[in-house]
Amino acid sequence: GSEKDTVVLECSHIVAADGAYSKVRRDVGICMSGERDLETFASIHFSSTELGKKLISTGNGAMLSFVFNEETIAVVVAHDMRKGDWVIHVPFFPPIQSAKDFENKNVVENIIRACLGTSFTDDINFDLHSVRAWGMHATRADSFSDLDNRIFLVGDAAHQFPPSGGFGVNAGLVDAHNLACKLTFVKNGFAPNSYLSNYDMERRPVVEEAIQVAVDNYRRGLIPAKILGLDRGVVSSAMSVINTLSPQLNKIAKLYPATGNEADPLNVSKIMFDSLLQAGRFHLNGYGSEKSTFDTRSLLNKFYDYDKARQRLKEIVENKEEGLPLLFPHIDIGFKYCIDPARLENTRGTISEQGDNILSWTSPPHHRTMSGNYDDGRTRCSLRPGCIIPHVYLRKTQTKSTISSLDLCNLGTTFTFIASDLKLIRAMVAELKKNPLHKENKTLMTKFILIVPTSQQNNTFDVEALDIASVFIDISGDWKALCDEWDVSGVLVRPDQHIQLVLSNESDLVSKIAQLSF
Ligand SMILES: Cc1cc2nc3c(=O)[nH]c(=O)nc-3n(C[C@H](O)[C@H](O)[C@H](O)COP(=O)(O)OP(=O)(O)OC[C@H]3O[C@@H](n4cnc5c(N)ncnc54)[C@H](O)[C@@H]3O)c2cc1C
Repeated sequence: GSEKDTVVLECSHIVAADGAYSKVRRDVGICMSGERDLETFASIHFSSTELGKKLISTGNGAMLSFVFNEETIAVVVAHDMRKGDWVIHVPFFPPIQSAKDFENKNVVENIIRACLGTSFTDDINFDLHSVRAWGMHATRADSFSDLDNRIFLVGDAAHQFPPSGGFGVNAGLVDAHNLACKLTFVKNGFAPNSYLSNYDMERRPVVEEAIQVAVDNYRRGLIPAKILGLDRGVVSSAMSVINTLSPQLNKIAKLYPATGNEADPLNVSKIMFDSLLQAGRFHLNGYGSEKSTFDTRSLLNKFYDYDKARQRLKEIVENKEEGLPLLFPHIDIGFKYCIDPARLENTRGTISEQGDNILSWTSPPHHRTMSGNYDDGRTRCSLRPGCIIPHVYLRKTQTKSTISSLDLCNLGTTFTFIASDLKLIRAMVAELKKNPLHKENKTLMTKFILIVPTSQQNNTFDVEALDIASVFIDISGDWKALCDEWDVSGVLVRPDQHIQLVLSNESDLVSKIAQLSF
């Protein structure tokens, strides 16, 4: 718009949540590192209630379908089968192909039909909502904030994952939670502005590990395609050959206007490329039903061990262990921040004028961010500094309402101190008051929680009357089990649910609280 439409705002901090192409990130000059354009897709959003009903009634509906056949290669996502809301992601290869190639309703109908298979002969009525291109990247910003700790990147502005981990939204929300917690500390005067540099130091290593998991899972997802003889490397080679030949091809096209179109110099290259892709998919019809494909099978067996490949695919599809994992709780909630300031390492990358400069980062993560798994694969929830407090159901004595231990913490407080021993809570109140950070008799705005066993649920607790602490019942006994397992008698938790420090006993308290600084 014009200059008079411009609004000038003055603020102490900026949180840039402006997505993968973040203008703020570019203006600050923060570089991105990692791999760009692992693949490019056209996402076709359409709806058809009839089709949804039909697939549900025939038992053929799936949330996620990977389609490989002679006519198309696609990933079909049923966002809402009942309402008939779908997105089909079709890989395409720029610059020869573009998302515009899919904007035609007939093309989309052919793709939907190809995804449904040859046995589907009904008419398909559908509404085409949009066709958009998206690139699959595995990148993260070299720094999640500027050097003055006044401008912060969150969400896709700071990182982009292949969707194969489902990490994008979660990671973005955790960025925002982490940063909001730190900004609250600074705004309330408990921490200096420099404390905000911990945002980058805590979040970036976690994001790096998550990107690695998403990339590994993406490559794992390529195994069936490789067994089917589909190789992206071959496609890239074909594309570079066609690109090299493109000037000659365009000259030929001009000589034969009936087949070439002068207005679109890529046309001949595109026809050739599309034909090559089609030829590359031809053998996939051999993977249909055994009866109808006998001839193709015997032909394919002449070129490679088709029967063995078919058997291997069957194993992958049928064996859960070999499937594509879609849940990664150890990444989503099992990560651990290094919150010991002495061990935090500032490895912020370059901030320059050159904008996105795509390099692979080679430095190992600053510290292991995952807290590990149990032998049976369940995510191990630890009562250790930096970890998220484990979820345990608790019942409030006064209101009898049941809540998760995670909901004990909120942004309205600086810390939540949780213990099962009233004496420890009293000692903590006294000790926090002595800490230099404590101001205006706010006990560092700490909330105190006393967790007691069910055997004490009918007791009265003077802490409630004194308004020192809220009392909760450990209804399942899980809280006690965790404290025993980790030899913990009290935990001080940040508003973002991560543990600041743990106490084994009262004698720990004095030294640990004295060290509490930002
Ligand atoms: C195919 C696909 C599948 C995915 N699947 C999953 C999944 O299963 N699970 C998951 O967690 N994630 C998934 N993701 C990733 C997820 O969509 C993103 O990580 C998430 O949307 C990022 O949120 P964001 O708010 O950071 O950025 P965006 O969603 O990009 O939002 C940024 C917003 O900022 C606005 N904006 C930009 N510039 C300006 C400006 N100058 N002024 C004002 N506004 C501006 C934009 O219009 C946009 O609304 C998937 C992504 C794709 C492409």
